[in-house]
Amino acid sequence: MPNTIHHQILIIGGGSAGISVAARLRRKGCEDVGLIEPSEKHYYQPLWTLVGAGLASAQETVRSEASVIPKGVAWIKDAATDIDPEQKVVTTATGTRISYDRLVVCPGIQLDWERIPGTAEALATPSVSSNYDLELAPKTWDLIQKTRRGTAVFAMPSGPIKCAGAPQKIAYLAADYWRQQGVLQDIHVVLVLPTPGMFGVPEFAKELERVVADYGIDVRFTSEVTEIDAPGRCVTITDNAAGTTSRLDFDMLHIVPPQSAPDWLKNTPLAGADVPGHYVEVDKHTLQHMRYPDVFALGDAGSTPNSKTGAAIRKQAPVVAQNVVASLQGKPLTGSYSGYASCPLTTARDKMLLAEFDYTMKPTPSFPVIDTTVSRKDMWYLKRHGLPLMYWNLMLTGRA
Ligand SMILES: Cc1cc2nc3c(=O)[nH]c(=O)nc-3n(C[C@H](O)[C@H](O)[C@H](O)COP(=O)(O)OP(=O)(O)OC[C@H]3O[C@@H](n4cnc5c(N)ncnc54)[C@H](O)[C@@H]3O)c2cc1C
Repeated sequence: MPNTIHHQILIIGGGSAGISVAARLRRKGCEDVGLIEPSEKHYYQPLWTLVGAGLASAQETVRSEASVIPKGVAWIKDAATDIDPEQKVVTTATGTRISYDRLVVCPGIQLDWERIPGTAEALATPSVSSNYDLELAPKTWDLIQKTRRGTAVFAMPSGPIKCAGAPQKIAYLAADYWRQQGVLQDIHVVLVLPTPGMFGVPEFAKELERVVADYGIDVRFTSEVTEIDAPGRCVTITDNAAGTTSRLDFDMLHIVPPQSAPDWLKNTPLAGADVPGHYVEVDKHTLQHMRYPDVFALGDAGSTPNSKTGAAIRKQAPVVAQNVVASLQGKPLTGSYSGYASCPLTTARDKMLLAEFDYTMKPTPSFPVIDTTVSRKDMWYLKRHGLPLMYWNLMLTGRA
């Protein structure tokens, strides 16, 4: 075939998932690993919330992609545009065809900004920002500092998103700042959540109910922002349970876009037609594709019903590496993912609630000796300093 190259194991996406899996495969002795990744930069997105709160710099969340790709992995600096799982070939934007024996799909999630009409116009105004775009996260901090009175709206969309805690974390960091500045009582803080409660795990929901009551935050449950009128500085809020809409004027707005699998991926046979968001349809324990056994997926692009976080990937990557190797050797797949995810919920500018849970939706603490169902100062240091160190030095090198 003209213009075709081959890798025994081909990975799509060099983000948190792709690099972690590549490193683990190399450690297991896999010699022919190819990685398709178009970007020159690699991002540690969990710190973007702190960039938006003025507690971390944008620069410290970025490193060159070249510096994180494990030695011996062939970097194909291109974007995947199609997958033919019958022929076992991936096509890229430059027209290269790459055949594989095993494929690992992890190109992340797509931000569907246009699904909330008015968002693009609103983000161009001084009153609206989003930590989901690193270019905009410093603007969130500017906005928080400039807001001294009026209404501040923090909104979360419905459907699976990456780090479902991030839309509320920034509200708490802002409210704590306003309290320090002595202006919290002059600001009507509104948190718009599509869920019926603060969190899916009752133990953590209880603590978050305490946090919102403490800041006096007005929470609108089962609701989402469905339109932004940028010039009028007004949002339309739809209550999906009541079937009603209302309008709310704002002075500042933090918006999070609805999300789904990347469009090109939705159009491949790997996408789950019945999976909301059309993510790659894999078994929730083995992470092997439901119809194409040579294909595995993890991270934000996978269909597993866990919380889409880097913390989940830390537990998924060893499972994928183990099962890919077993499958190449014709052995049964023994690696099994429990659904573990963690959400480090920054409830104040020096406190964090480390919500860890799995498919059972029960707390699964990594530090059983301490009570992680309440906000803690030691956990804040873990989030601010410990987890980034662990990410760059241990997770991306396949050691944790
Ligand atoms: C504001 C915010 C706060 C967060 N907070 C936390 C937190 O506190 N804790 C936590 O654990 N997680 C958090 N997350 C979530 C976490 O960052 C993601 O879950 C994680 O990065 C997903 O990893 P991934 O490899 O699936 O995708 P990504 O890390 O997004 O990587 C995807 C990669 O695929 C590449 N790619 C895209 N398209 C293609 C293509 N066509 N072909 C080849 N490559 C492609 C991209 O360039 C990128 O490098 C947060 C995210 C955000 C945005």
